[in-house]
Amino acid sequence: MSEGHPERKPRRFPLQLDRVSAAPVAGGAARLSRDGREVLRPQAPLQHAAQERLRHTTPQGVGLDSLRVRARMVERLAAEGISHPGLLHAFGQVPRHQFVDSALVNQAYEDTSLPIGLGQTISKPSVVAAMIQMLCARPGLPVFHAARPGSEARPLGACLEIGTGCGYQAALLAHLARQVVSIERLRDLHLKARAQLDQLRQSLPGWPDVRLVYGDGMVGHAPQAPYDTIIAAAGGAALPQAWLDQLAPGGRLVAPVEDARGGQQVLSIVDRLPDGSLQHSRAGAVLFVPLKSGTT
Ligand code: SAH
Repeated sequence: MSEGHPERKPRRFPLQLDRVSAAPVAGGAARLSRDGREVLRPQAPLQHAAQERLRHTTPQGVGLDSLRVRARMVERLAAEGISHPGLLHAFGQVPRHQFVDSALVNQAYEDTSLPIGLGQTISKPSVVAAMIQMLCARPGLPVFHAARPGSEARPLGACLEIGTGCGYQAALLAHLARQVVSIERLRDLHLKARAQLDQLRQSLPGWPDVRLVYGDGMVGHAPQAPYDTIIAAAGGAALPQAWLDQLAPGGRLVAPVEDARGGQQVLSIVDRLPDGSLQHSRAGAVLFVPLKSGTT
């Protein structure tokens, strides 16, 4: 041991207990052991990475522990019938507070829709969850039930989202799909979503990518078609033909659409059966922003 033989070089490996610090040192200040030597902190880079990761997923200066409130939101969704394990996991991963205006951060994990600028809104978590869960159900089953035999989740595969908005739903979809293409017709929202998703990708290693497109989603996105799943966050008088054309055999589309008498929106579900034919069904009443043509 070095204490008994001062002339010997101090042993650096394996580390002696008094040279290892258990707690991270704020600000990276050097910590000294009792004999005045600098304590080696082999875990420091890992601890700094973990702190940095937390810093990016926790709202600053609002006294809100986002991880805990996010976990509570996930518990609420599960209690209300969301049973897709991957979907619940995605809701636990995506920091919703980072997608809304800083003035609204305190409401980010409430079950409420919130303004995202330019007259658009981010839907409430329970609606987003119900729609994505519908997208995951097997053809012929409008609803997904984790506990029901034979109703295991459909992989979202190549997924097209119409209406990127702030990018929150796109981030959720990216955790479940092989590939996500998301279109937005408002340039400012498209650019804001791009900046937000880029920042998440840079700060959180392994964060899945989304292909964001600025354009009119009424025509879908032919270059990457067909899609296994299509989901729209804006509703019009009818489903655009392009969406149906770009739906792959075995694929499913979920979108709000005005009912025949006009006015009220309902969720429309379309399955393209393996033989190529389309099967339409409907779910409950919803209220989404209007689907508009053209770009701004
Ligand atoms: N999924 C979004 C919800 C945004 S609200 C989110 O998580 O934030 C719906 C969005 O659809 C709005 O941003 C609106 O501009 C957009 N939208 C409406 N019509 C569109 C169209 N034809 N093509 C692309 N986006 C459209």
